[in-house]
Amino acid sequence: MLKELIGFRTVSRESNLGLIEYVRDYLKSYGIRPRFTYDSGGGKANLFATLGEARPGGLVLSGHTDVVPVAGQNWTNDPFSATLKDRRIYGRGAADMKGFIAAALLFVPRFLERAEIRLLHLALSFDEEIGCRGIPVLLEDIASLNLNPIGCVVGEPTEMRIAVGHKGASAYRCRVTGHAAHSARASAGVNAIHYAGKLVAELCAIGTQLEATEPRHPGFEVPYTTVQTTIIRGGLATNIIPAECEFTFDVRHLATTHPDEVLARVAHFAKTRLLPEMQHSAPQSDITFERIGAIPAFDAPIASPFVQLMHRLIADTQPPVYVDFGSEAPFFARAGIPSVICGPGSIAQAHQPDEFITFEQLATCEMFMERIAGSSERALSEDAP
Ligand SMILES: [Zn+2]
Repeated sequence: MLKELIGFRTVSRESNLGLIEYVRDYLKSYGIRPRFTYDSGGGKANLFATLGEARPGGLVLSGHTDVVPVAGQNWTNDPFSATLKDRRIYGRGAADMKGFIAAALLFVPRFLERAEIRLLHLALSFDEEIGCRGIPVLLEDIASLNLNPIGCVVGEPTEMRIAVGHKGASAYRCRVTGHAAHSARASAGVNAIHYAGKLVAELCAIGTQLEATEPRHPGFEVPYTTVQTTIIRGGLATNIIPAECEFTFDVRHLATTHPDEVLARVAHFAKTRLLPEMQHSAPQSDITFERIGAIPAFDAPIASPFVQLMHRLIADTQPPVYVDFGSEAPFFARAGIPSVICGPGSIAQAHQPDEFITFEQLATCEMFMERIAGSSERALSEDAP
């Protein structure tokens, strides 16, 4: 099954319909009729399927179907044709995250054996890797069904540990417009790079202040919100005062801090401290900000019934972990569906050349699926919120 899934070239910018149609036909062979939701162009689809009769409750097994590109990476073999070697399966998406999807699909007949008491849903999304664009559409569709699932397992690679949190990530672009002049005539120009520099310094100060004052989250290696300027561009020649400068900054934040608080602070600084001075010299001067991507923070309460249920199901007595990558879990959580992240493979192999997953990890995931398949209705409904 995993070899089949790796064979579909579902790089985010390309269509995932080949894979979705393959899964549709596979599910149809078991009498399951999935639902589809699409992107605006219709070239990409989410799939949602209920195993058994649609009624409230049930556990969602969720995965994204898209993978990151392979361009510029040095692969030993074709990344879209799985290679089996040394008890590993190599291929783009092996760990992130077609291994989990393959295991879930393989267990469909087992899940169906007692579907009347044990409700399972499969949720496959598009465009996770380019900012979780598919999952909101899928969640709207789930909401319209009034299913109220008891929870969701997002099968990102955690080496089958239960992960209950990750930071949020937001990226912003700032454009500074000044006024060009010969560099010998300083009073005739407004230097966009100089003003961008003041904004970058302000962002640094905000980051330092967050580091000093924000309550720590013990789950993370960097246990506070951080602000980093990541790209800066501007200027035309060594003797021209630059009229344009733009830069991007990245906010990695705890669930308790909204990333737009950082934006609001730097925008306030721009408006009150920089713009009046700039516009006094050149009225067309401007500073604009735009959000270019956001993944919410995820922080599931460890003591919640659903997290406890997952620990029992996976027979994991170790404490839950926090991960340093984003996922669709906060989208499920916001939609009122308690979630954990738990899937086979390691994030160390994700997005890498020669991405692989070990047979051991796939076997551990299959044991997890088997425990879900063998669990009683009580475990999957009454214990949960
Ligand atoms: Zn992933």
